[in-house]
Amino acid sequence: MTDEPTTDGGSDADLTVYWHDRMLDHEQPAGAFKHPSTPIVAADETHPDRRERVENVVATVEHGFPEESRFVEPERASRETIERVHDAEYVDWLEGFCADGGGRIGRTTTGANEATYDAARVAAGAAVAAADHALSGRPGVPYALCRPSGHHAQPTQADGFCFLNNAAVAAEDALASGADRVAIVDWDVHHGNGTQEAFYDRDDVLLVSAHHDHGSWSEYHPQEGSLEEDGEGDGTGYTVNVPLPPGTGDRGYERLFDEVVEPIVRSYDPDLVLVSAGQDAGTVDPNGRNLVTRGGFRTLGSRVRDLSREVADDRLALIQEGGYQPSHLSFATLGVLEGVLDRLVDLEGYGHDDPMGWLDEPTELVDEWLDEAIDHHRAHWPIE
Ligand SMILES: [Zn+2]
Repeated sequence: MTDEPTTDGGSDADLTVYWHDRMLDHEQPAGAFKHPSTPIVAADETHPDRRERVENVVATVEHGFPEESRFVEPERASRETIERVHDAEYVDWLEGFCADGGGRIGRTTTGANEATYDAARVAAGAAVAAADHALSGRPGVPYALCRPSGHHAQPTQADGFCFLNNAAVAAEDALASGADRVAIVDWDVHHGNGTQEAFYDRDDVLLVSAHHDHGSWSEYHPQEGSLEEDGEGDGTGYTVNVPLPPGTGDRGYERLFDEVVEPIVRSYDPDLVLVSAGQDAGTVDPNGRNLVTRGGFRTLGSRVRDLSREVADDRLALIQEGGYQPSHLSFATLGVLEGVLDRLVDLEGYGHDDPMGWLDEPTELVDEWLDEAIDHHRAHWPIE
């Protein structure tokens, strides 16, 4: 950091991190990994959305980019801003649930404590601040270091460790501030189902989500993330789902950008590019089965920066989503930021490498799935 945290928002640093340590107070219930406790597991473990995730990312920024970065405390998102995406009844429920101490929501993998509603408002505020930063043309890349994450949160319910949809709230705020079109690139390994739900019948927000094949389950997670879920009405074609097989790695994601993300976003011509940047496609992530390394994330960061320069006057904002192996999340996020800032960090003892990337990618399988996605989406977009 070049300065202590500040609220002035006037940073001209290369990287402005919107961050507040209030987001550390949110906790989800311990159990059998992310699931409820069971007698066959003697020792409950901390929920995978643990505070160390983002504490590590703060250290990654401080150590990796001490001269280039600055931390800024965001305002909490207002009720009006949140209700551009979420139903008032749901927000009331969430506030009350947390005020009563929270707990696990049914037998889902998601739970809250008394700090969760406030932390979620801070996280949504961080995303809004990052989008405002980008839209206003201030220099440098804004990065909302959000916890809890947002992309599974639907307008009427929490889902997948998420309560308020930070990216969707930021997109709505950008539209209210004068943007005509916002593109959301979601590279989190899970489907951005809440974001999809928020904009499914609209053409003013494009969602491109690459993720594991993900079936729906119960009333908590009705969206599937399939190719066929590609929008409806005015939104037909503006939801672009790209299911990827287990084992997709650096090469597969590069092809995804070459042949899907870049031509589609270029054709859409947005005023702002938001990235739902979950690094749980990282190799060894316990909530994903993909193999992206620090080098692969470096490529993603670089590609998305170049793309936003080309199509949106460099108006780019990163919004943190998942990433659950706390140590690897640091290496992965270091890669993203190296790519975005075009700086290579020579990390003592590690150099430019990822110490956890050792599995090979099943390239034929990955190509088959990508071919299928391209074949589907060419009905709406100039891809081949
Ligand atoms: Zn995820």
